[in-house]
Amino acid sequence: MATLVMKFGGTSVGSPEAMDRAARLVARYRETWPNLVVVTSALAGVTDALLRAAREAVAGDMEAVRQIRRRLEDRHRAVVEALLPQGTQDPVWFLIQNRLDTFFRLAEAMAVLGEATPRGLDAIAATGERMSAPLLARVLEVRGVPAVAVDAAQIIVTDDQHQAAHPLEEPTRARIQERLKPLLAQGQVPVVTGFVGATEKGVTTTLGRGGSDYSASLIAAWLPADEVWIWTDVNGVMTADPRLVPEARTVPQLSYREVAELAYFGAKVLHPKTIRPVVEAGIPLRVRNTFDPDGPDTLIVRERKHAVPGRIMALTTIPRLAMVIVEGRGMLGVPGVAARTFAAVAATDTSVLMISQASSEQSICFVIPEDTVEGVVQALEDTFQRELARRDIDRIWAMEKVAIVTAVGEGLRNTPGVAGRIFGALGQAGVNIIAIAQGASEVGLSMVVAQDAAQRALQALHPLTQGDAV
Ligand code: ASP
Ligand code: MG
Repeated sequence: MATLVMKFGGTSVGSPEAMDRAARLVARYRETWPNLVVVTSALAGVTDALLRAAREAVAGDMEAVRQIRRRLEDRHRAVVEALLPQGTQDPVWFLIQNRLDTFFRLAEAMAVLGEATPRGLDAIAATGERMSAPLLARVLEVRGVPAVAVDAAQIIVTDDQHQAAHPLEEPTRARIQERLKPLLAQGQVPVVTGFVGATEKGVTTTLGRGGSDYSASLIAAWLPADEVWIWTDVNGVMTADPRLVPEARTVPQLSYREVAELAYFGAKVLHPKTIRPVVEAGIPLRVRNTFDPDGPDTLIVRERKHAVPGRIMALTTIPRLAMVIVEGRGMLGVPGVAARTFAAVAATDTSVLMISQASSEQSICFVIPEDTVEGVVQALEDTFQRELARRDIDRIWAMEKVAIVTAVGEGLRNTPGVAGRIFGALGQAGVNIIAIAQGASEVGLSMVVAQDAAQRALQALHPLTQGDAV
């Protein structure tokens, strides 16, 4: 019998209406997928609020913690009252209050100590899913869908790197099988807490922010499932940000590498690391919209079968960047300039988004977030003090208010004429290209343009996402 894992993101369970919709989707798809595993995030904003409470506690402001607690209680009570016939008489309401009590005591302990350990933060952060999963399971149950909440601390075994714990394959695979298979065999729908794990000793860990996708992906890969659906609040992955390009559409199919490239260049899609287990297992993953369940969605696969060579699949942009340029005729052929440049940048803890070097070797330029530019230029001036004095390096300067525009598509770069057509479209729109680089993988072409030309660039390139090869 076919097995499906569905994951609901925070906005998909974030209000009584959303949770109602999520429950109806589970009931509906259970008809076609008798083996159904649900993974859920905390209600939208809850994890943020919990971690904020921890910070307030450390700062000694227990009144702020009390307020956050009240607000969390209100949000969950609203769902309980709207969707459970017994309202706050339902046993799940006592469980939720229990969780909130535990959270509050942890915060009190942090206030006393004046510090929060990573372990304590994980215990607090996990509270959100430890309320949402039992709540969703209960909503399903009262509607006649046999569901049981499963705390992922029982099935996702991780190392002890708190706040970004790594799942351990062997024990996790075994626990997933032992715990979930029998439930499925009994016709139950397990509703698993996303984001949460535990060490071998049972100490709660979390998989990192946004980690529920990762939970779903691990469960699907190691159960194994036939498909994974990530329910979110948009229709899958779009050809471009619809706020910038009104004609943007859903991309029907993307390869894993295309997703990785889009994520690297700023598109708010799935984090590639989190979906890797399913992609590697060859399990198709769909990104669907809870608020438009019959609308278009995106299927993510390991390898796209019908890749049109040279076709742009999607466009993305990163705003508020600066391009730093190290230039000088004396750099020609001097070994080690690039290494020293990037070592100096790395020492400032700045991440470099794009690098390009002119073939004449007279300049190196790279792109960094705008707000890091002062520190980086200073660090480079310190590093190259001697070369600057000797005029081997003429100057180190930054071009501010730039953006990266990236076109993503398998085969974009080894199809003749693609770059020409991309540059042609930008030229016609009057967009000046400041620098060009190849992306992190083989599937992207990135261009630096002035910040105020970025939207025009996206709109000029968007028609190339349609039809055949560019
Ligand atoms: N609730 C967690 C977070 O907000 C995990 C998730 O939503 O995926 O980071
Ligand atoms: Mg979330």
